[in-house]
Amino acid sequence: MEVASIKNIDNTTLYAEVIIPLALPLNYTWVVPQRFQETVQPGCRVEVNLGKNKRYAGVVKRVHHEPPDFVETKEVLNVLDAQPVVYEQQLRLWEWMARYYMCTEGEVMAAALPAHFKLSSETILVFNEEAGDDFTNLDTEEYLVAEALHIRRELRLPEVQQILDATHVYPVINRLIQKRICYVWEALKETYNPKKETYIALHPDYDSEAALERLLNEDKRLQRAEKQMQLLLAYLHFQRTEGEITKAELLKKAGATDAHLKGLIEKGILIAEKRTVDRIKGAAKQIEVNFELSSAQENALQEISDVFTSKNICLLHGVTSSGKTEIYIRLIERYLKAGRQILYMLPEIALTAQTIRRLEKHFGGHIGVYHSKFSQNERIEIWNKVKDGRVKVVLGARSALFLPFDDLGLIICDEEHDTSYKQMEPAPRYHARDTAIYMASLYEDCKVLLGSATPSLESYYNATAGKYGLVKLMQRYGDIAMPEIEMIDTRRYRSANDAENILTQPLREAIQAALNDQKQVILFQNRRGYTPYQRCSTCGWVPQCRHCDVSLTYHKFYNKLVCHYCGTSYPPVITCARCGNHDFIQKQFGTEKIEEALKEFFPDARTARMDIDSVKGKNAHHQLIQDFEQHKIDILVGTQMVVKGLDFENVSLVGILDADGILSFADFRVNERAYQLMEQVSGRAGRKHGKGKVLIQTSQMQHPVLLQVKQHDYTGLYENEISKREQFFYPPFSRIIKLTFKNKQKEVVRDAAQLFAGALSSKYGKYLTGPAEPIVNKVRNQYLMELLLKLPRSAKVLEQCKKDILYQVAVLHQEKRYKSVIVIPDVDGV
Ligand code: ADP
Ligand code: ZN
Ligand code: ZN
Repeated sequence: MEVASIKNIDNTTLYAEVIIPLALPLNYTWVVPQRFQETVQPGCRVEVNLGKNKRYAGVVKRVHHEPPDFVETKEVLNVLDAQPVVYEQQLRLWEWMARYYMCTEGEVMAAALPAHFKLSSETILVFNEEAGDDFTNLDTEEYLVAEALHIRRELRLPEVQQILDATHVYPVINRLIQKRICYVWEALKETYNPKKETYIALHPDYDSEAALERLLNEDKRLQRAEKQMQLLLAYLHFQRTEGEITKAELLKKAGATDAHLKGLIEKGILIAEKRTVDRIKGAAKQIEVNFELSSAQENALQEISDVFTSKNICLLHGVTSSGKTEIYIRLIERYLKAGRQILYMLPEIALTAQTIRRLEKHFGGHIGVYHSKFSQNERIEIWNKVKDGRVKVVLGARSALFLPFDDLGLIICDEEHDTSYKQMEPAPRYHARDTAIYMASLYEDCKVLLGSATPSLESYYNATAGKYGLVKLMQRYGDIAMPEIEMIDTRRYRSANDAENILTQPLREAIQAALNDQKQVILFQNRRGYTPYQRCSTCGWVPQCRHCDVSLTYHKFYNKLVCHYCGTSYPPVITCARCGNHDFIQKQFGTEKIEEALKEFFPDARTARMDIDSVKGKNAHHQLIQDFEQHKIDILVGTQMVVKGLDFENVSLVGILDADGILSFADFRVNERAYQLMEQVSGRAGRKHGKGKVLIQTSQMQHPVLLQVKQHDYTGLYENEISKREQFFYPPFSRIIKLTFKNKQKEVVRDAAQLFAGALSSKYGKYLTGPAEPIVNKVRNQYLMELLLKLPRSAKVLEQCKKDILYQVAVLHQEKRYKSVIVIPDVDGV
């Protein structure tokens, strides 16, 4: 017999379901005491007790009259916000993300909210040095804490508790943060803060020569202050000879003290301003604000508008340099005029100062840039402005979709194929493109435009199936030809000298020709090329797994070929299945080797390397881009990083050094990725002045993907790939959930994964692949195992399977041996 679940209703007591920034399996409920009943509402933060003496600021999800079963409820201690910090839509987005990406709403909340909003017993408050020591506008309690902070610089919340009456701590802290007296310390984020420095400038009153002359010759205030006069003259000298100058540089070079400078500032002669160090200072380019769309662009824009009358999502497939950005700008203008908010998402690394300035020029104060590496103050400012609608256009990386939009009308997801839209670590492991599509459904009549020169198979599939609209823009702006692509057959130029293998003779000649022409060169080498695999040195064939359609990796220790998807192992190959030869190679070269080769052949060229190792930190990346833009570098050797959104005018040659390496990733998406990579890298060539040239070194002259790249034949690639995906039941025909098991002990993690697979197999047997060791099988002293579920696209099956997985995790953790095994689900991983 089925028991109807009738909720108890208790009309006299008000309850609040609260999201706490932790990985709790479900949200807990607190009682709202009488005195807060008027103020508490969904989206507000409340202070609650958890366990004995842990306190948190949680976000109210729902207020209601249903007493929770079995548990004793405690009271909400304080309500921290008079107005909600997030809207209903954010709460629903968090809920969806938690459910879809198999994490908790608390984890989503922790990722979504800026640090300012997150208070807990672990919080450390840091005194804001810029606040000074003028505490006159604080009340008594605020003053007590501010003073303690001023002296100690840092306070933990329990320490604040000792200063104040325990019931007031969170509200007081909250006000101090709002008044910018202190901020919340965040271990990771603070170290990434963009560098801020105080710059000195002349007050605009003295901009004209005449005014300046009067100041120097007639101003009584200066004639009485000799040291200040000297400092001013020093400033003027440096400003003329070196341009911008920071406060620190000026004082040092002029041998002056802070007091002298302060004097000049108080007199209104100089000004000091704290600024983010402008990383591309001096590289300012003329930005075209009043551009006209070409007729092809105009048509595309019209088609997009037509799509939006009947569909909410549109894919813009526009070749590299076709002028997609200009179309976005026109579209944004339109939504802006209608008073709507717009989110323009880009992959983090494409969010260059160049793009930002381009949009700022157009939209001025309407635009906000949101970036996980911005300081807390910058982020909170944008947060607030988005929330009350002052900022209409947000330009940001994936985390920008957490902003509290009130009236979102358009989301643009540029470079929608980019894998960095997927967050890998930590939870929520979400895909920003897919999340954005869900998010749009939460707002009235909100449209999504996906843009790419090389769309993901998923999006293109959805577009051809009619789920999304499809608009094509197949010519480059300004009648520039698509880059000409040629292949170099590495088999013909094999040499005993490694450097000559890395840079074959035709490539060397082309580099030399470019250098002679004062042009620049980009050489591309894939970082993932380090994965060991066997490859026929004659025809380039790489052995594949029979079950997975994935390249096999070579395990030297076992002398075996292994599929890291399903774990099947094979003996090493002796005879090539394609050409019958017996000569296999396992070696590859990295970017450093390439630099050495360049030194050998082009000792006078200025070369630089751009990869994860050479550009630690964001500034190094910007610095390199700037140097390249200013032609301080002739040849740039790089990995994926060189691909993203760079618009270099002077590049006439792009070399792809090892296409075979790119084409042999052990991944079912290998061809899609290879095409995207090569097409995007090629797109860097000859964007403005004349035709660019791309040279691809390969031993597989007839490889279908290379032929497609050569013809810029995306649809050819799509047709081939989509039928293979269907055959092997890969996305978009299935949905993949990957489970990663982690433990310090290899046997434990292996057994746990086996056990887990066994438990799922009765119900999901035919959808299971693995468990198997990933290519990198040990990370930070933890051994890894992976289990793959390829599930049908039915929402019902997915939902149920996620439930079953979470249940099995709980079962696994019941056993003592597996208690410490970490299980990480990843949905739609890339
Ligand atoms: P995509 O994003 O499609 O690769 P971009 O939007 O970067 O292409 O455009 C390529 C180049 O052409 C840029 O330098 C851009 O400023 C220029 N461009 C594109 N459309 C126009 C236009 N309508 N008027 C002037 N310049 C344009
Ligand atoms: Zn062969
Ligand atoms: Zn396999």
